[in-house]
Parts: sequence; structure tokens; C-alpha cells
Amino acid sequence: MASGSSAETSSLMRDLLRQAGGVAVVDGGLSTELERHGADLNDPLWSAKCLLTSPHLIRKVHLDYLEAGADIIITASYQATIQGFKAKGFSTEESESLLRKSVEIAREARDIYYDRCTQCSSADSGNGRILKRRPILVAASVGSYGAYLADGSEYSGNYGEAMTLGRLKDFHRRRVQILAESGPDLLAFETVPNKLEAQAYAELLEEENMQLPAWFSFNSKDGINVVSGDSLLECATVAESCKKVVAVGINCTPPRFIHGLLTLITQVATKPIIVYPNSGESYDPDRKMWVQNTGVSDEDFVSYVNKWCEAGASLVGGCCRTTPNTIRAIYTTLPNRSTSPPEQ
Ligand SMILES: [Zn+2]
Repeated sequence: MASGSSAETSSLMRDLLRQAGGVAVVDGGLSTELERHGADLNDPLWSAKCLLTSPHLIRKVHLDYLEAGADIIITASYQATIQGFKAKGFSTEESESLLRKSVEIAREARDIYYDRCTQCSSADSGNGRILKRRPILVAASVGSYGAYLADGSEYSGNYGEAMTLGRLKDFHRRRVQILAESGPDLLAFETVPNKLEAQAYAELLEEENMQLPAWFSFNSKDGINVVSGDSLLECATVAESCKKVVAVGINCTPPRFIHGLLTLITQVATKPIIVYPNSGESYDPDRKMWVQNTGVSDEDFVSYVNKWCEAGASLVGGCCRTTPNTIRAIYTTLPNRSTSPPEQ
């Protein structure tokens, strides 16, 4: 894929959507599931810590999402940065190898999943597992500079006056190169909190002549602007103008805001629109914890999905605090995907 032409780049997402029947399913929260399986993520590296300590858990969570119907799995590299690993005492070489590992684990999970599909004759193995051979993409996650800071600033978008476009590009450049060389199908620039970082990503993709496609996904805490207060319309325009970008949208934002945000994005976006909200629970940045039971149930989350698709979304999944159950419910509610007979 890394040697593909730009024509292939732009058709990757269109092909996926066509084969998925119009709407593709993205996976759900990774760290939520890693913790449920016993991982301790109380660390500045967050889910990236598991690349080191428990890669088998990451592979298991990817597989759980594939068996829940996800067409796209997102690697455990959101908070994995060369700078962050080095601060923990790793060498440059070790840091780069951990980044590569995030993509390798996701690709392994896809291979194992395809094997299981081959071994299983029916599309649904029972107990809710979806074993259906279909195009599956591995998206290499690139978290924002704020995610590296691990102080919640990806939810404020405030990087201070001293931050510049050039510094942001320098921060991300090597990591993006390494991830791209590791064989994912695309790059997922997630939880982009301000316009400056979107511009940095767009310029980086051009400067590196990146052959991999990418999506840009912003977050909002007021349902109007991105979290920094920058205009969502302006941010989405940066994504729309970048030739390497094949989808633009919103993640890690409460479900109740998504419809309004979609209405805004569709004013400027002709590219496919992606939404993967969080559960709507509130996050306490001081305690670095989600506040339990403040969000919506899987049923409520899923009740929005077809409205989001009507409003223009063509890739739907979940972010923090969503689980394989959320993703299975999304898959099942999509009219073209459900394996159960249509309701009369
Ligand atoms: Zn999230």
C-alpha cells in the first residue's frame, strides 16, 4: 500500500465503503478494553504501555472488535511517541520498534481473524461473533501533541503561545514516517484539538509525499467548535483541502453533539465523514479518570447511528468507554450489515 499511487489512495476509502454497503464500521475504545482485561494503564504512555508489557492483550482486543463487526481497527499508537518512550529510558531504536509493533499487532489480528473466518462456515459463529470475510483496514493512530503531554491538553487544545507550526511538524515527523513504513492501510490523525495541528499534519503529509491515505478527526466539547475554540468549519476545510486526506470527522466527543457537528462538517466536506464518539461519560482531567455512569447506554448510542448516517456520516464507530458490545450493536443496526432477517 505504501507504494500506491494517489489514485489508489483516494479509492481506498471509496472501495471500502462500497463493499461495506455504504457505511463502514470503525472499532471502539482500546484502553477501556485493555483495562477490563487487567492492564494497568496508569502511566503517561497510557495504552502504548501495553505494546511493551502485554501485546497479546492488544491483539485480543483488536480481534474482539473484528468479531464485533469492525471494518477498521485502530492501532495502539495513539499515545506512542518516540519522545514519550525516550523519556521512559528507551533508545531511539527501541522506541521506533515499539511504534512498528503497534502496526504489526493489528496486522496479526487481521490475519488471525481471516483464518477464523476460513475455519468457520457460517458468517455468525453463534454467541454473537461475526466471522465474515470482508475488507479490513488497519489504521495507524497518531495522537495529538496534547496526548503526548498526557495532561489532558488534547481536550483543551491549548498548546501555549510558544507552539508553532514548525515545532508541531518536527514533533510528529519521525513517528508518522515510522508508522507509515510499518504497513498500515492508512493513518488516523485522531482527537485533533486545534487548527494549527491539523495544518501541521496536512503539511507533513505533503512534505513527506506520503503515499498512505489519512483521516483527520477532531474533538469538540461544545457541539460547535473544536475543543480549543477554533472553528470546526475551518478545521474541516484544512482536511478537505489536503489531497492525502480520505475522510474527515469527529471522535471522542459526546454522542449528543454529533448530529449538530455533522451538519457543520457537511457544509465544507465532500470527502467521506467519520464519527466515533465516546460514551458521553465525563472525563475528570485532574484524576485522569472517566466518571462512571454519566454517559449513554449502548442502546441509546446506537439509536443515534442511523440518524448520523442520514446526516452524512459514512464511517461510524466508538472512542473512549465504548466496547465490542457497542460496535456489535452499530454493525447490527446498519441496514446493509445485519445478518438477521429484516423486520417486517
Ligand atoms: Zn476517546
